[in-house]
Amino acid sequence: MIDYQNVINTIHQNLKDEVNRGVVASYIPELAGVDINNFGIHLRLINGETYATGDWDKKLSIQSISKVLTLAMALPMYPENLWQRVDVEPSGNPFNHLSLLELEKGIPRNPLINAGAIVIADILVTLLDNPKEEFLNYVRSVVDDPTINFNETVANSERMTGYNNFAAANLLKAYGNLHNDVDTVLDFYFHQCAIEMTCEQLTKAFFMFANHGACCQENVLISASQAKRINALMLTCGFYDEAGEFAFEVGLPGKSGVGGGIVALLPNQFTISVWSPGLNKRGNSLLGMKALEQFTTMTKHSIF
Ligand code: GLN
Repeated sequence: MIDYQNVINTIHQNLKDEVNRGVVASYIPELAGVDINNFGIHLRLINGETYATGDWDKKLSIQSISKVLTLAMALPMYPENLWQRVDVEPSGNPFNHLSLLELEKGIPRNPLINAGAIVIADILVTLLDNPKEEFLNYVRSVVDDPTINFNETVANSERMTGYNNFAAANLLKAYGNLHNDVDTVLDFYFHQCAIEMTCEQLTKAFFMFANHGACCQENVLISASQAKRINALMLTCGFYDEAGEFAFEVGLPGKSGVGGGIVALLPNQFTISVWSPGLNKRGNSLLGMKALEQFTTMTKHSIF
């Protein structure tokens, strides 16, 4: 029997005073002010037990972690056509890379890079009457917490400086793979990224991927097959040009965001989230990756 509280306390102790914590994202100005010393871990076992340490109860900007949740919402509504508009191959490139998109004529490599997530955002904007409100309500119901919200200041801050995402959306539009207005789709995309959650809420949000599609309240939101596919995408594409390194060091499907959050999971076993805002050169939480490497090494839990 593993003493999980002891494991995560040990990891927290090992890393909390680390001097090399990476760099807080500053290309979204509003994120630049987040204290780099935040460091939290939350673990949720499939049987409902939870373990937590550090700043697990503080809100972080989930950023690209939201891409998994928009995909989970869109897939059951648009199961066949979705994969005609976005591929399922790792990109081997940064999250905001553009030239492959042009080379591949507006079909993004996968739904977890920005261009792919913008296509998924476009799909939701088409399918939903009130896209932002309905997506927020979806997230609230998945987590069973009506207090989850957008941070409007972060969304606006990204809109003001989101040149790269405007370029991606315009390229998608030029190739006919964006059906709605660029501004409308990006307004949705900037808001989904600007949702705030705690580490505890993140392990709840991702529970369905560890539980064959059923969320914490046991509502089935996606099929077991869809959960399996989303996990495959997280493993191969969840960390952009560092997906190989994450599989190599950690060995779990997961997703990072430039707010410094990472959520990872082992099907049938657990979900785990780590937050440390300092990022490495590939835009993934530096301490977060180290913490998860230590977790899978100490517990021997990995898909491999
Ligand atoms: N909102 C961010 C962007 O589009 C998300 C990037 C990320 O978290 N990797 O640039």
